[in-house]
Amino acid sequence: MDQQITVRVRPGEAVRFPGLCVACGRPAAERITLYKRRGQLTRRLEAPLCADCARQLARRSGQEERLLRLRWPAVVVTVIMVTALVFAALPINPWWFRLAVGLAVALAAGALVHRALSRRAEAAELPERRAVREAARIVDFTWRDMTLAFANQRVLAEVAALNADVLATEAPADETDPAEIITAEDNSV
Ligand SMILES: [Zn+2]
Repeated sequence: MDQQITVRVRPGEAVRFPGLCVACGRPAAERITLYKRRGQLTRRLEAPLCADCARQLARRSGQEERLLRLRWPAVVVTVIMVTALVFAALPINPWWFRLAVGLAVALAAGALVHRALSRRAEAAELPERRAVREAARIVDFTWRDMTLAFANQRVLAEVAALNADVLATEAPADETDPAEIITAEDNSV
């Protein structure tokens, strides 16, 4: 099970990482971009990765490759065909209104095709690649903090130590400043 830490960093502020690969804990030379999307907001974070894990991350299965390559052409064909079908079949006038309805339906169908192929591509992902991708994740974020999960215990401990000044700990009650709790509650009202 992944272990999580929450750090008090706001958008644009950096989380400090050790020079260790977040996936395997060996010395890192490459980078991986962690990101989490919530609604319209996306938070990104650059984390270190070793050369081996970076290679795993770049590898795709043949099936995944095919599905990703097929994705956009399939969307284009779907949009054109559905537009043409609706335009030909709908008994409404004027023609431009028929075309607009056709396009709206076609774009929705195109989005569905894109999503279906993306999901299938994700399911065809190599397990080694998935392991690297999921070794370090942004679990959640707010405007003032970010929760990170790490599969590697040592990496987690080092990240926690490097960011000790901004670490949000729920544990030992005696270490928590009561004034801080009150402030946090006040802010949430
Ligand atoms: Zn590695």
